[in-house]
Amino acid sequence: MTVLVVGSVALDTVETPFGHAERVIGGSAIYFASAACQLAPVQLVGVVGDDYPMEQLAPLRQRGVDLTGLEQARGDSFHWRGRYRHDLNSAETLETNLGVLATFRPKIPPSFRRAPFVFLANIDPRLQLEVLEQVEAPRLVACDTMNFWISSRRDELLALLGRVDVLTLNDGEARQLTEQTSLVHAGRWLLERGPQHVIIKKGEHGALMFGRESMFYVPAYPLESVFDPTGAGDAFAGGFMGYLARTGDLSEANLRRAVVVGSAMGSFAVERFSNERLLALTTSEIDRRIAGFRELVAVDGGPPLAPGDSPPTLSPAHEQRPTARSR
Ligand code: AMP
Repeated sequence: MTVLVVGSVALDTVETPFGHAERVIGGSAIYFASAACQLAPVQLVGVVGDDYPMEQLAPLRQRGVDLTGLEQARGDSFHWRGRYRHDLNSAETLETNLGVLATFRPKIPPSFRRAPFVFLANIDPRLQLEVLEQVEAPRLVACDTMNFWISSRRDELLALLGRVDVLTLNDGEARQLTEQTSLVHAGRWLLERGPQHVIIKKGEHGALMFGRESMFYVPAYPLESVFDPTGAGDAFAGGFMGYLARTGDLSEANLRRAVVVGSAMGSFAVERFSNERLLALTTSEIDRRIAGFRELVAVDGGPPLAPGDSPPTLSPAHEQRPTARSR
């Protein structure tokens, strides 16, 4: 099944302790698509300026990303300049130049409107809402956001929460949006505003998924070296949504598997600048990393501490119940 993504298509200038990349291709929609296309067909909607190196998008097209919805407008492409110091968990934004994104109005091509899975990647929440007016009965809608929009478009963002099934955001953004310090409180606060599931990404400390009656945690894959964290969150979302679209299963158990696949894709994204590593991936590499995650957390129950208690089980039984609400 197809995944539709609408988000930023950027030129990124990034500084990390390990190097510097100047005006490389990036943006939330690009990172998302680079991960999701390994698992399912992707339809991308966004805008670039006349300075965009369109030829560098050819590898995405070859991997099944339909770029019919990518407009090229007169003006500068969206440009983000960020820096990571030794704490690779948080990006410092040095400059955000919206360029053609400032006047963009998403137009979903008719052939994209029936996409069963929709991801509203990090972009102006007003545009995310406009996309929802144009799609027809998706099975699952997820969205992401960031500090820039939480401070400038809070009301629109809160309106959006009432219309999505899944929200993904990082821990700093969750705290900023909810004004809660505990992530458990933040998760509940966000669930009360609409989504059935909220996924809080914690960089090298993994990801927490909150459901109405459940909590699930996956660690991040312990990499020897993280080169550039840019795009990890979007690659996570690409893996998560791509896996759901590939399997078509919205049970709680499968959502948990999707969080593991998302974590695997996020871990690949940070191994190189831009979307280089994601585009060089093979499915066997993805399978091996997913197996690595299983191994990382596998533990048997061991004997009970109190005599007479039944032994702890390895994995609790999860109710197999669909997550998507009827809109
Ligand atoms: P992340 O997955 O959170 O690391 O996302 C990184 C991507 O977000 C970069 O490629 C940026 O181009 C993009 N980005 C940065 N600021 C914004 C913004 N205000 N709106 C949309 N996309 C952004």
